[in-house]
Amino acid sequence: MGAGTGGRRMALILGIESSCDETAAAVVSDGCVVRSSIVATQHDLHERYAGVVPEIASRAHLERILPVVEEAIREAGVALDDIDAIAVGHEPGLIGSLLVGLGAAKALAWSRSIPLIGVNHIHAHLWSPCLDAEPIEYPALGLVASGGHTTIFLVTSPTEISPLGASIDDAVGEAFDKAATILEAGYPGGPAIEALARDGDDRSLKLPVARLGDTLDFSYSGLKTALLYAVRGQPVGRGREVTYPRSAGDLDHQARADAAASFQRAAIGALVRNMDRALEQHEVTGVLVGGGVTANGCLRRELAAICESRSLPLRLARPEYCLDNAAMIAGLAAPLLAADLTHGMDLAAAARVPVKSA
Ligand code: AMP
Ligand code: MG
Repeated sequence: MGAGTGGRRMALILGIESSCDETAAAVVSDGCVVRSSIVATQHDLHERYAGVVPEIASRAHLERILPVVEEAIREAGVALDDIDAIAVGHEPGLIGSLLVGLGAAKALAWSRSIPLIGVNHIHAHLWSPCLDAEPIEYPALGLVASGGHTTIFLVTSPTEISPLGASIDDAVGEAFDKAATILEAGYPGGPAIEALARDGDDRSLKLPVARLGDTLDFSYSGLKTALLYAVRGQPVGRGREVTYPRSAGDLDHQARADAAASFQRAAIGALVRNMDRALEQHEVTGVLVGGGVTANGCLRRELAAICESRSLPLRLARPEYCLDNAAMIAGLAAPLLAADLTHGMDLAAAARVPVKSA
């Protein structure tokens, strides 16, 4: 099956994304042709807190949403009148942030009397390999590895996905962010760890990731603790009184780089191991990969190797579509619209939802 055209004309869709710390808008035609994709990141606002502060995020979305939407329409070279539908990432995410995008999307759809399409953010990451790319064949195996999610999916059509395994605690991106805090490597954590790891020996520390029996689930909290103890030494005391014999600042560059490389090898090794096992268990025609962590060069190379050994096409999202963006929201909305999966003005935002088909 192709990318969900179903023989019907696909629409010119304006997408809006505001689930976390990126305010984004995009215009996409035919589900895959990106006419514009504007992303206003808030990294500068959250850096001093080493993580996203929800109140700061929603206020920044409010300030940026309309200029970002206007820029997306201008850059696409279209008028608001040309837009056939408005798509919005309405779940999951930070509730205050989601509400800003949802409010803007409803206002636009209502004022133009055009359909409103609520899109699941995780599902949209699985669509991101289709952007500016050839249509996909189904069924495919999907991996979303991001700051909030680490899930393997069976993707049977553009609109039908079922989770096969997921992290039972921290997401892999969250583990990268915490590793960067432990190693005082910078913010956001993923790219900082990847850069530091380039100078390191990835076998210098033994940092295991738990295997959860026969499942395709993940657990990253133990890896984070193992890195913490390796870098700072064994803790002394308990609870709030706990102290460590040293901090990352006491280590030289080589020791920090070795720790970053060892962490990256373990974190990515778990993703690749479970993807490999999922490929043994499910007959698929290709592999779809999206989410912020999939910008990581090591992960991209290792996934390419397991797909090549099986002669399966690997469809990685382009680097600019790995991180949160609105093109993936507008793109997935096309097959949803074609299947009449639209919403009314009562569409709600949801912070947490089980990931399921549209
Ligand atoms: P998302 O949640 O999809 O916006 O992705 C953000 C997450 O991706 C954050 O946890 C980042 O630390 C992580 N990330 C971004 N780039 C990289 C990279 N090159 N390597 C590993 N993780 C990354
Ligand atoms: Mg995301």
